[in-house]
Amino acid sequence: MDIAAERIERLHSLARAAAADGADDRARYYVRLARRVAERNRLTLPRAFRQFTCDRCDTYLRPGKNARVRVRDGHVVITCDCGAHARYPYEG
Ligand SMILES: [Zn+2]
Repeated sequence: MDIAAERIERLHSLARAAAADGADDRARYYVRLARRVAERNRLTLPRAFRQFTCDRCDTYLRPGKNARVRVRDGHVVITCDCGAHARYPYEG
């Protein structure tokens, strides 16, 4: 794994930890940093990262806390508190 990918992984864990602490602003900061690293290095963000971050407001999503999760027609629909929806194929 190259350094940029490792950095993204680390920022992802930091964002997750901050979100778990209820520090949403700090989590958002790490999410934005990770996005920037990915962009600069032309990397695709890991699937877990994409699924648990809001494209609109960069919040790290915690189902039941700041996001709602529904399974509908074979898709997972995640709704952020900001109102943005994201849809993913359901993969068990
Ligand atoms: Zn949002």
